Formats: sequence, C-alpha cells, structure tokens
Amino acid sequence: TNLQRHILITGGAGFIGSHVVRLFVNAYPHDKIINLDALTYAGNLENLKDIEDKPNYTFIKGDICDYEGLLRIFKEHSIDGVIHLAAESHVDRSITDPFSFARTNVLGTLNLLEAARQTWQPDFTGKRFYHISTDEVYGALSFDDAAFCETNRYDPHSPYSASKASSDHFVRAYHDTYGLPVILSNCSNNYGPYQFPEKLIPLFINNIRHNKALPVYGKGENVRDWLYVEDHARAIDLLFHKGKSGETYNIGGKNEWKNIDLIKALIRTVDRLLKRPEGSSDKLITYVTDRAGHDLRYAIDSSKITHELGWHPSVAFEEGIENTVRWYLENQEWLDRITGGEYQKYYEKMYG
Ligand code: NAD
Repeated sequence: TNLQRHILITGGAGFIGSHVVRLFVNAYPHDKIINLDALTYAGNLENLKDIEDKPNYTFIKGDICDYEGLLRIFKEHSIDGVIHLAAESHVDRSITDPFSFARTNVLGTLNLLEAARQTWQPDFTGKRFYHISTDEVYGALSFDDAAFCETNRYDPHSPYSASKASSDHFVRAYHDTYGLPVILSNCSNNYGPYQFPEKLIPLFINNIRHNKALPVYGKGENVRDWLYVEDHARAIDLLFHKGKSGETYNIGGKNEWKNIDLIKALIRTVDRLLKRPEGSSDKLITYVTDRAGHDLRYAIDSSKITHELGWHPSVAFEEGIENTVRWYLENQEWLDRITGGEYQKYYEKMYG
C-alpha cells in the first residue's frame, strides 16, 4: 500500500539504532521516521549527520522512562510502529551500576509497551511493536554445545542480560495478555562504524593505533559470534515488515571468534593499514583479571529467519573487519570528540 507509516525508533542515536534509522529514512521515503533518544553518553547525533535534513526524519530528545512524554509522542505523531533499541548496553557498566539498567531496559520498555497499548487499543490492526534484544539472555555455552535456538530457556548471568531478559518477558506478556502485536529478535555481537569506543572492537582499534595496552579478559578464550551491523539493520527491516506477530527470531553471523584470535586479527589489520611491520603491535596484548560472571561462549542459530524470510549475513568477516578498521582510522576526530569528555574518566576508572 501507499499508506504512510509513522515509525518510532528508540535509541536511534546509538550504534545499531543509527544504522537502522539511516536504512529506514533512505529506504522508506514515504514513511515518517521519528528517532527518540535521551542522548546519554552513548547517544551521538553526529552518527546521523548524513540524513538529518531528510524530510521524512524527525529527532526528539526524550527519555523512555518518561511515560507521559511517551503518550504525548504517540498521540502527536500518530505512531503506528515501534522499533525499540534504546537501552543501557554495556555489560561492564551494568556490573558497577545495575539500577540504571533496570530503569531504562526494564521500566523504559514497560513504559513504551503501555504507551503503545493505551494509544492503540481497542484496534491493533496495522500496528507493530518490535523489540530488539540480545543473545546474552540465553546464558553461556560450553565449547561443544549447540548454538542458541529461539526455544532455548532464558539463563541470564549479568545485570545487563538480566535486564534484557526481563524486558523480553514483558514484551511477550503484552502479546499474550493484551494481544499487542509484538515481534522480538535476539542478536549476537554487532561490529562496524559508529560503535561507542568502550566496546571491544573500536576500543582495541584505537588502542592499537595509539600504542596503548589491549586489556584482554582472562586468557582471551571467550567465544563470541560477530555480525556486521548493517546485516543486523537489514534483518530488522525484514522482520519489522515481514516477521510473524508474536514470534521471536534469532539473528547471528555464523562467525564465532575466540577473543584473542579476534584481537590478533585486529592487530594485523591495523598494522597493515598503518604500514607498520607485521607483528609490531603484538606486545600491546595485556591479560587482565577476567570479568565477573564472564560467559564462556555465545553462538546463535539463525536458521529460522533464514528459512522463513531468506535473511543471511551478507558481509564476510574479513571484509567487515577491514571496513571497520578503515572507518575508525579515517574518523579519528569522531573518536577524539567522544573519548575527550566524560568517557575518559570512566575509562580510567575501569582500566586505570
Ligand atoms: P548503544 O549504547 O550504542 O545505544 C543506545 C542508545 O539508547 C543511545 O543512543 C542512548 O542515548 C539511548 N538511550 C539510553 N537510555 C535511554 C533512555 N532512557 N531513553 C531514551 N534513549 C536512551 O547500544 P547499541 O549497541 O546500539 O544497542 C542497541 C540495542 O540493541 C540495545 O537494546 C541492545 O541491548 C541491543 N543489542 C546490541 C548488540 C550489540 O552488539 N551492540 C547486540 C544485540 C542486541
């Protein structure tokens, strides 16, 4: 149909959110894309400079914990679709400050669900509430366990994953109790441009560049699955438009890496692009005390979205890493502005 949709994207100034906003603004010029973001330390409107003047794009600075504010936005903008990405997203921060994770991830999600229900009822036709979650809700795998399926039981270990698990349960409860047309996806680790440099890949690229130590948790044996962020954004587009209401879909890169091997790949790529002798940055690797409750391995079985909707990751890891390293090396000012302020104090507290 030609009907214009009014899609509220929360957390659109963050890492994944900015890629999702860009994709929707460019791909759906007849839809109105409203980006709601509180601009916490992790939110950066610079991530969206290239699309901010587009006529179908609106930014609203606001907190998902402000229920009255959400009601106003739903009514004023006749919101009929939600793609919910706003969250506190960093596991290490959740260990030092669990309350802000419960506040934003649990209560914030509940506020959004309730604002949607109140403004959309009694007729949910044409409406959709899409909640973005993580594979970390499923807990940890050993090296030879099968990858997580949508039917795995929840077993979160960190305050971050516990808060995301809780929000997922609220989303399903709104479907089962009130009939809210929800959809959920649980994705593995994302990487790519515009990721806040407290996360492993941008942090380490920047440290290698500046000959700073690379703090590796434990022995670097933990395994993560990595997905290029634009592949995640494409999956979100597909699920928002074609996924089945009430369903959960796992999204992953079929791309498991031991932390230490990933770090060595980053070192090789940065050294090569900076024309340094091979192996010259290996000495930066510094083993530090393991993260408390550190999950050994995550792996995701994404055959459901592949079979139902034909999605599969399109960016090979070598290509994705090359693009990503290149982007951070070429966007030093973006990094400098971020690492200048508050973030620096946090970094010093965490890593000395
Ligand atoms: P991010 O930290 O880069 O961005 C989060 C955004 O949410 C920021 O722009 C921030 O300002 C905003 N925000 C935080 N609290 C808010 C509040 N109370 N009200 C409104 N806005 C608020 O996070 P990300 O890595 O882009 O993750 C986005 C979503 O995807 C999260 O829900 C996260 O759990 C999920 N996820 C992330 C990954 C990953 O690898 N990064 C993997 C799977 C799922």
